[in-house]
Amino acid sequence: MAHKQALILLGAPGAGKGTQAKRIAKNFGVPHLSTGDMFRDAVARGTETGRLAKPVMESGGLVPDDIVMKIVEERLAQPDCAAGFVLDGFPRTLPQAEQLDRMFERGGFLKPAVVDIEVSPETLVRRLSGRWTCSTGGEIYNVYDAPPKVAGICDADGGALVQRSDDRPEVVKARLEAYERQTRPLAEYYRRQGLLNVVKGEGGADDVSRSIGRILEHAGWRDGHL
Ligand code: AMP
Repeated sequence: MAHKQALILLGAPGAGKGTQAKRIAKNFGVPHLSTGDMFRDAVARGTETGRLAKPVMESGGLVPDDIVMKIVEERLAQPDCAAGFVLDGFPRTLPQAEQLDRMFERGGFLKPAVVDIEVSPETLVRRLSGRWTCSTGGEIYNVYDAPPKVAGICDADGGALVQRSDDRPEVVKARLEAYERQTRPLAEYYRRQGLLNVVKGEGGADDVSRSIGRILEHAGWRDGHL
């Protein structure tokens, strides 16, 4: 269990943040907060936020900070976030990180645990182009490295597997550029505060989970079985 502390997962698109965030959230009994999932949901439901986010996501850019902060603040105000949570894909810019710091202070949270998952550019492209996601449960597969038992079908719940529209090669390039320019500087931001942990993301998902689990145990998170 976490103790009024968030885990922030940093890393490029395709580094494995979503896969790891799901495992950690399940094992430590805290919510998994993915701003990408929140925006995809808003687009699917046709809300005002979805209408604003859709063209930006399709071009591989970043949704403006004020829209991102609004959706995050609403989510963090829910009671299930009171003890801690795992952030996946947020913060992605320095202003988001600074506003998040203020939210932690206001809420009486400890400084976050921060893990940067490092992966080579070649691996990122392979991960993104091979990624298929369960349309019902959100389970993530990779046709090259972690294929489902039956092509196109989720092992866990039999749901249909779908490819994200922003995993197309031309959009992937823009997403990786946005990461380099706007998100990579966050590693330095957290390093300066002595909060940054770097794990190698090239190995299997189990190895990466164990590395993150050790960091969380060191930070005082309990009852995880990673
Ligand atoms: P993800 O699923 O994390 O790769 O996010 C998918 C897309 O949603 C990104 O390419 C951005 O367009 C948008 N998005 C998600 N999280 C953020 C964020 N924290 N700041 C800005 N845009 C975001």
